[in-house]
Amino acid sequence: MKPVFGTIRPVVVYPSSGTGAWEAALVNTLSPGDRVLAFETGHFATLWRDLAGNLGLDVNFVPGDWRHGVDPVVLAESLAADPSVKAVCVVHNETSTGVTSRIAEIRRAIDETGHPALLLVDAVSSLGSVDYRHDEWGVDVTVSCSQKGLLLPPGLGFNAVSEKALRAAESARLPRSYWDWRPILEANERGYFPYTPPTNLLYGLRESLAVLDEEGLANVFARHRRHGEATRAAVRAWGLEVLSLDEREHSPVLTAVLVPAEHDADKIRALILDRFNMSLGTGLGRLAGRVFRIGHLGHFNDLSLAGTLAGVQMGLALAGLSVDRGGIDAALSVLETT
Ligand code: PLP
Repeated sequence: MKPVFGTIRPVVVYPSSGTGAWEAALVNTLSPGDRVLAFETGHFATLWRDLAGNLGLDVNFVPGDWRHGVDPVVLAESLAADPSVKAVCVVHNETSTGVTSRIAEIRRAIDETGHPALLLVDAVSSLGSVDYRHDEWGVDVTVSCSQKGLLLPPGLGFNAVSEKALRAAESARLPRSYWDWRPILEANERGYFPYTPPTNLLYGLRESLAVLDEEGLANVFARHRRHGEATRAAVRAWGLEVLSLDEREHSPVLTAVLVPAEHDADKIRALILDRFNMSLGTGLGRLAGRVFRIGHLGHFNDLSLAGTLAGVQMGLALAGLSVDRGGIDAALSVLETT
């Protein structure tokens, strides 16, 4: 897992979903009442904020429009105004919106303020699909799990941990037992887990790492970027709007598509599921009914994307939207020429 996270340090593996790995990042590094800075980039950032609040942390949640990632300038201003912040939480790829935050720029913004806060990053839907560099970007804890770019069923949670985060774990006072990094790292050194390991998924992980290695991570990232570009070309040619607004932040792993106000995105999804047996992502939280999400991550190729977009185009037409049928052509020409 080290090359996938871009770290030379050990990666903690839990039998858990991503939510468990979120909790682990917080309880290992923080104490009751600690101030945390987080950003409302979408549904998952909001859930992570809620979880932090439930643990007794004091979260400053900077409002957002769910169409942009974390703004490094706003982050720097918020940190400068609040020296008590102990950790900054950022969701790298917001799975609810298809917007990716720029972690390297965020790191630079933190460094320029000279603020000592830890940087905790959720890479649940970016790891293994989008370029990610835990060590180089100075991330203190990277949270991820098995069921997205790692091509596996749900059930493995991960924390990649910096030296600074391990030091913070020595004085952190939030209650922790199952999530405690220290007994896990200690047992791992001897080839063991402190409790029953998810053996079946570890065998699966070995295989998915071999699959990623065979294609080459750089090629995997390029494939996701192309599929994102082709999908956005289709959406725009259909005359619809991509939810993500900043060219630098479009997600390579999924595209959220806004439907015109007079249509219900969930009815379009239901029609496509019924007619073509294809499941699109629903609009989450405040985007319910307003967007559908086209996933193009993981075990996916040019023809699976072409088929997906064909299903969406037919579904949109059947749902009564007047879409330009040039959408598929626009996507195919991106695939042909890149
Ligand atoms: N973070 C992000 C960005 C996610 O997309 C998800 C789930 O989709 C989670 C966290 C929560 O992970 P899980 O549902 O595995 O607990």
